[in-house]
Amino acid sequence: VRILGIEGTAWAASAAVFETDRTAISTGDRTAHPDDVFIESDAYQPESGGIHPREAAEHMHDAIPRVVERALEHARERHDGPATDSPIDAVAFSRGPGLGPCLRVVGTAARALSQALAVPLVGVNHMVAHLEIGRHTSGFDSPVCLNASGANAHLLAFRNGRYRVLGETMDTGVGNAIDKFTRHVGWSHPGGPKVEAAAEDGDYVDLPYVVKGMDFSFSGIMSAAKQAYDDGTPVEDVCYSLQENVFAMLAEVSERALSLTGSDELVLGGGVGQNARLREMLAEMCAQRGARFHAPEPRFLRDNAGMIAVLGAKMYAAGDTLALEDSRVDPDFRPDQVPVSWRSDETE
Ligand code: ATP
Repeated sequence: VRILGIEGTAWAASAAVFETDRTAISTGDRTAHPDDVFIESDAYQPESGGIHPREAAEHMHDAIPRVVERALEHARERHDGPATDSPIDAVAFSRGPGLGPCLRVVGTAARALSQALAVPLVGVNHMVAHLEIGRHTSGFDSPVCLNASGANAHLLAFRNGRYRVLGETMDTGVGNAIDKFTRHVGWSHPGGPKVEAAAEDGDYVDLPYVVKGMDFSFSGIMSAAKQAYDDGTPVEDVCYSLQENVFAMLAEVSERALSLTGSDELVLGGGVGQNARLREMLAEMCAQRGARFHAPEPRFLRDNAGMIAVLGAKMYAAGDTLALEDSRVDPDFRPDQVPVSWRSDETE
């Protein structure tokens, strides 16, 4: 089975081809080597400030045809059937959540390709894809997942046919919160890697820490971090403390989720997962409680079409395809809205 994935929820115009054999999917063998995923991405870089939805959509418009063509070339090279046959078996695309104008470009491209190549369309939830790529590359059975991405931050666990949201941010996503601070300081987007670098030389200063049960909030710490910077606290100290508190909040709720579910496996998803300090804290917390921890390699953490193709292949094998008339995108698509068709394990 060869699946084309297309991603374009915010900043990454990306296309990928995932190739696997049918038995690997139907027997639930998730250990297929990640090298079987070919990814071609083109990132949108705002000239100033954060992501502008209209500019991001224009980027999708320009870049999606290019990255898709490159992925299709790759699929054609691997294709050994008659040249008249489609080199792919299905087109999977990100239906949401994300920026509406970007999603619409991706949706239109996916529908057109599925029609032109006469192959089925698979609609993938972007946040469930962030989770499933970790399950795929770890081979873990039923992990708790911490999604730490730009526009989101939440904990998911599988129960009764769906990924349930156990806890989440009460305001902004974790990456967006960090990016708001770096915009204030005048650093270019994305801010996360710059905060990580600056934090290396920082000392701890007191900043708010807000966890309420399984939920958490970043708005207070963001305002306090900006204020501390304006009051003359060295930027390295603010960056260090920001990371320590924000990631400790995420580690605390992850630990609570492991404890409540009884799971001993944690996977990390999302672009903020590229941060070494976050991975270190989570790995330490898991080691202390005898749980296993897995973070996929960076190309699968940040937005990428590889994760869309991998989950698309599982959905395709389960017969979970979309009719054209039901294929509209959804900027607010929540992970718990997805009936999980591709997992045979049932929990009470
Ligand atoms: P979503 O998946 O919720 O739609 P998104 O589309 O914004 O989010 P991601 O690629 O998951 O995208 O994450 C991007 C975010 O990751 C940005 O906010 C960026 O600052 C942050 N980020 C990238 N690298 C690092 C890092 N090393 N440390 C912290 N944050 C980082």
